[in-house]
Amino acid sequence: MVRRVAVVGAGVSGLAATKCCLEEGLEPTCFEQSENVGGLWYYTDQAEEGRASIYRTVFTNSCKEMMCYSDFPFPDDHPNYMHNARLQHYICKYAEHFDLLRHIRFKTLVTKVKKRPDFSVTGQWEVVTRRDGKEETAVFDAVMVCSGHHVYPNLPLAQFPGIHKFKGCYFHSREYKEPEKFRGKKVLVIGLGNSGCDIAVELSTVASQVYLSSRSGSWVMSRVWDNGYPWDMLVITRFRTWLGNILPRAISDWLYVRGMNRFFKHENFGLMPLDRTSRKEPVFNDDLPSRIACGVVVMKPNVKEFRETSVLFQDGTVQDDVDVVVFATGYSYSYPFMEDDSIIKCRDNQVTLYKGILPPRLEKPTIAVIGLVQSLGPIIPTADLQCRWAVKVFQGRWLGKCWVKGYFLTTLQTDYISYMDELASAIGVKPNMLKLLLTDPQLALKVVFGPCSPYQFRLVGPGKWSGARKAILTQWDRTLQ
Ligand code: FAD
Repeated sequence: MVRRVAVVGAGVSGLAATKCCLEEGLEPTCFEQSENVGGLWYYTDQAEEGRASIYRTVFTNSCKEMMCYSDFPFPDDHPNYMHNARLQHYICKYAEHFDLLRHIRFKTLVTKVKKRPDFSVTGQWEVVTRRDGKEETAVFDAVMVCSGHHVYPNLPLAQFPGIHKFKGCYFHSREYKEPEKFRGKKVLVIGLGNSGCDIAVELSTVASQVYLSSRSGSWVMSRVWDNGYPWDMLVITRFRTWLGNILPRAISDWLYVRGMNRFFKHENFGLMPLDRTSRKEPVFNDDLPSRIACGVVVMKPNVKEFRETSVLFQDGTVQDDVDVVVFATGYSYSYPFMEDDSIIKCRDNQVTLYKGILPPRLEKPTIAVIGLVQSLGPIIPTADLQCRWAVKVFQGRWLGKCWVKGYFLTTLQTDYISYMDELASAIGVKPNMLKLLLTDPQLALKVVFGPCSPYQFRLVGPGKWSGARKAILTQWDRTLQ
């Protein structure tokens, strides 16, 4: 019987995990190596080892109604997209409101998580922690890994011939904090992800020239969508997901590409994904197209070779006098505290998890990885629902028969609503549309045609929140305010 649960990390996932355990009568102990909650959103001027590091101007790309905890809406007066400091404030309020802080051991690093010798019978784990140089070992019935995945930089220097000859400076985007020291410099940013775009746009206000190199292009979306409404309130709806699932692939691809190109044609801006119909996660940047149009950001293909002061690109063009290179090349997964990290990580740095949460091949399902799946949807409600599901599994109340036969997410990329519904159905918190239509048609229409906001997963079943209906009916009011 699971009772004591170790939660590794007090970011948004770790807080959701701690709260879920408490609601289900379990005893969580959350270990956080830093002195605050928030994880990635807790900004510090210096990157800290083992914790995600963001630049000063990071804003959310999910809006407040879509990215909140499902039973804790943002205050009415918050803007739709938030600066990291405001989100951090909300996260602290959440921890206070649900009285989570007393379950968190700050400045405590988890150094080892290993199976107990009798794991095949008990499913228990030994967790070793270090605080002020002092080590402690404790036994837990289950572990929730909430340590984040924007921590360990992926810096593939071997793929960039000549980089060691290059006389300018180069670093990973994790080290980037603010633009001032790049005033007047010629900068090359490599990578067209969210960080690469943000950094290129921000540097273009001070640098003499910014080049943005991309291997395969990307869809670039704006936070401000049709008629100025938040993109995710319009795009992430049950109706659209249903339409996408029933239409023939060719038509749905055509609609997808048309939607992505509605504000500007990606190919005219050098941004077009090589695989045009690729549904890979788009990047969000309201300013990139205009920065390209103004010539202060110049798009470039992949780098072929670095020379002492110049860079040769795949299309044969050469840029001279490049001063700085920022590798915005993403992150790799790492779980240094797992004694056997192959429990989570498989070959080729791939992670294969049942429902994107449970490592396969364990005799007992008593370890869950939270917040690792990627979808077009926001992470907070995803992590929240994953925790609710995982805690039920720990308690032995639910585990599909397919656990062995397996529906495993290998790429960890998934469709948001389908994924959320799947977890929600399993634990009895998915709203029944037909029943809703008959009993509360006004709400049903908002649920089907409106944004799939997190409150939908608090309407029924275990963890039901009495404010959920009202929150759905008033979500547009808060958005407009
Ligand atoms: P983290 O926030 O990384 O927290 C992990 C915590 O675990 C940290 O506090 C760390 O100190 C602690 N920890 C790690 N290892 C140990 C250990 N061994 N012992 C003790 N403590 C440990 N997602 C969205 O949904 N919307 C957005 O708008 C959005 N914007 C983003 C912008 C940027 C620039 C980046 C990089 C990501 C963004 N994301 C966004 C995704 C982001 O990953 C999530 O929003 C979220 O912060 C992840 O939370 P987490 O709790 O899983 O991990």
